[in-house]
Amino acid sequence: MPVVTPKIRGFICTTSHPAGCAANVKAQIEYVKSQPALENPAKKVLVIGSSTGYGLASRIVPAFGGGASTIGVFFEKPGSETRPGSAGWYNSIAFEEEAAKAGLYAKSFNGDAFSHDMKAKVIETIKEDLGQVDMVVYSLASPRRTDPDSGETFSSVLKPIGENYTNKTLNTDKAEVAEVSIDPANEDEIAHTVKVMGGEDWKYWIDALSEAGVLADGFKTVAYSYIGPEMTWPIYTNGTIGTAKKDLDATVEALNGTFGDNTAVVSVNKALVTQASSAIPVVPLYISLLYKVMKEKGNHEGCIEQIQRLYATHFGTGTATTDEVGRVRIDDWEMDPEIQAIVDGLWNEVNTDNLRELSDFDGYQDEFLRLFGFGIEGVDYDAEVATDVAVPSIG
Ligand code: NAD
Repeated sequence: MPVVTPKIRGFICTTSHPAGCAANVKAQIEYVKSQPALENPAKKVLVIGSSTGYGLASRIVPAFGGGASTIGVFFEKPGSETRPGSAGWYNSIAFEEEAAKAGLYAKSFNGDAFSHDMKAKVIETIKEDLGQVDMVVYSLASPRRTDPDSGETFSSVLKPIGENYTNKTLNTDKAEVAEVSIDPANEDEIAHTVKVMGGEDWKYWIDALSEAGVLADGFKTVAYSYIGPEMTWPIYTNGTIGTAKKDLDATVEALNGTFGDNTAVVSVNKALVTQASSAIPVVPLYISLLYKVMKEKGNHEGCIEQIQRLYATHFGTGTATTDEVGRVRIDDWEMDPEIQAIVDGLWNEVNTDNLRELSDFDGYQDEFLRLFGFGIEGVDYDAEVATDVAVPSIG
């Protein structure tokens, strides 16, 4: 059995610690259990992209806050005897083990959610085990997608549209604030990003589930988006990824047209350190400043707190903030003008020398390592650890 240490390459960590990942999942479960039980909870929940970040939280909250049966779909790498697998693999093992202890049904599928085959397998399992689901969470973040009909593979890009974008960015490896300049995307790159991160596959899932008769009357479905402050709009909201996110709004309209008002919704979530967000230029520097300001203000949240609030207020009491196009805004505390004004001031001042003073870069780095199960109190990182462990329902 190996001793597992972090191996960071740019914005990814190529190792993950099974015991650390388990501790992370348990801490999220404890948080949910410390909150009031959910009102009107969904009882049978399918989460697509359920192994890390917002999707993992979206599986934990209904299970441990509402006693839901859950099916999770993800694309993760199992470990071997000598090498660790990916963090989402170990997170999913821990989730299933804790669910079993609590007497909760949980099954997981590892593979390509964009494929017809995955949809068919999940539908079979719903039919056999649950009959129907009453909530579908779509939380995929993927750099590419193979179209299930044409077999063509599309890649998404993180680029501005129309003109070059230059701004500060953070080299997280070197703790350096530098300038980044990104050329605009061409038409193909825009279309391909929409193909990967837009709503088409979300709709494919809902249509396939509906045709198979496995959606309960009055089911709900949610996908996640981001807007953020104006300084990031050229690279995010008005860039290629934002164009894909706008496509989610169109998908909501289409789904609600078929299945009835308030069936589908987009939730705009807070900027947080996840494997997906660490790959976006400019955003990690913004997150480091935002964390500093929100921690000082006392209203910082992670994925689990955000998703607890989403289920409790939007799907529960119906008291969540929504905007003019009907999106749920659990980014409301991030976007508070007072918070944004302070972040904006710090943005203008921040440089390599004052990075640790003006921002919560230490917090950013800690959280990045924690995504992979490192730096967690109570975990013995000098001990050998079994890495070739299986997700119970996958074997
Ligand atoms: P993440 O990288 O932590 O999670 C992505 C999930 O998708 C994982 O479970 C992964 O296994 C799964 N996945 C990827 N490709 C797959 C495939 N082909 N088949 C099956 N599963 C696959 O990302 P995240 O940050 O939690 O993002 C989830 C959603 O939330 C995205 O839509 C993202 O845009 C949105 N969001 C993120 C932030 C943020 O700051 N992180 C903010 C707002 C909204």
